[in-house]
Amino acid sequence: MEPEPQIQAFESRYGRPPQAGARAPGRVNLIGEHTDYNEGRVLPCAIDRETLVLAAAREDGRVRLVSREEGEGRAFSGDALARRGDWTDYVQAVFFALAEAGHRVGGADLCVASDVPTGSGLSSSAALGVGVATALDALFGLGLQPIDWARAAHRGESAFVGVGCGIMDQWASALGRPGAALRIDCRTGEASEVPIGGDLALLVAHSGVRRELAKGGYGDRREECFAAFRAAREAGVAGPEARALRDLGEADLPALERALPDVLFRRARHVIRDDARVDRMADALRAGALAAAGALLLEGQASLRDDFEVSTPELDLLCEVADGLPGVYGSRLTGAGFGGCTLHLVAPEAAADVAVAIADGFERVFERRPAMLETPPSAGASRLWEPKGN
Ligand code: ADP
Ligand code: MG
Repeated sequence: MEPEPQIQAFESRYGRPPQAGARAPGRVNLIGEHTDYNEGRVLPCAIDRETLVLAAAREDGRVRLVSREEGEGRAFSGDALARRGDWTDYVQAVFFALAEAGHRVGGADLCVASDVPTGSGLSSSAALGVGVATALDALFGLGLQPIDWARAAHRGESAFVGVGCGIMDQWASALGRPGAALRIDCRTGEASEVPIGGDLALLVAHSGVRRELAKGGYGDRREECFAAFRAAREAGVAGPEARALRDLGEADLPALERALPDVLFRRARHVIRDDARVDRMADALRAGALAAAGALLLEGQASLRDDFEVSTPELDLLCEVADGLPGVYGSRLTGAGFGGCTLHLVAPEAAADVAVAIADGFERVFERRPAMLETPPSAGASRLWEPKGN
């Protein structure tokens, strides 16, 4: 995003220029869905939509904040943080996490603006959290690394806001690389880059259904996964050293099927197979095997729809329409499901036509056009400027 108009907005709102600025992108996950909280692997990349956070220090410890998207936020004090159930929780959360990690963070005036659609599965919440962490690092000279921005935003969103999320979103937002996806092992924290060549375009379609409306579904799936693992443990399918569904593999599925109730078995099967698909996808991308990469998306979508049951008629239709078009390698819902977006791997020369055709096909059934965006794999968060001396 262009900082200039936001700098002006900051000045007219607070009567002085910002002293620090930072940007943090949203993300799209290629494969490995609902695997992060099962200690498995994920394969996200940062997108070219981002959140801009401008900041200036205050002496009185107060934090004032305004968002171009959400409007005026209620001011808070760094030493009296309390959840309110609105967007300012995501900002308070970062103050909470930085203080908990022992950083000295003072008061601030903040302006937020973003072109990441909210509640769509592209992680506007991580872009906001990482953007705030990065801006506060710049403003107060905390000397943090990108992984620290991710940790602060993740700790805040999970412990303070209370969203039981894995670290994938914040990690991708903080550490994304241009031209690459990140294969992240959510157990060990190891990450490696998986190049995405210029022969592949990433197309995202927004179903227009806000995922927020179904927040409960996400928590239910987490609990089912944990219950499936406990049952696998009790039945002896998972050994004593196993800690999560991540520790089970394809070979365990027959025994799991005998031991678990049907629903829990299908939840586990999705996690086990999608986790394995991450490495299969990384191999396919590294080999430039685009048809194989697309086929993995199709497998992933079927698994999310039938085994994990987080797809919706809108998401199913977006995938079905796209997968019938020339130039499309494969499609699946991306993010937690229950609404939000689909991802389509497409030949770059076909991308513009495919985007129109997907929107046309969707409109014929749902009588509205989905927002479409094409994004290159993009760079993670960065400081834009900071006070002299930091
Ligand atoms: P997602 O991360 O998929 O976009 P979430 O429900 O996790 O969906 O996060 C969306 C929430 O994050 C919004 O409802 C709002 O509270 C907060 N948020 C994200 N971007 C902004 C923004 N630019 N300004 C204010 N709040 C934002
Ligand atoms: Mg989110």
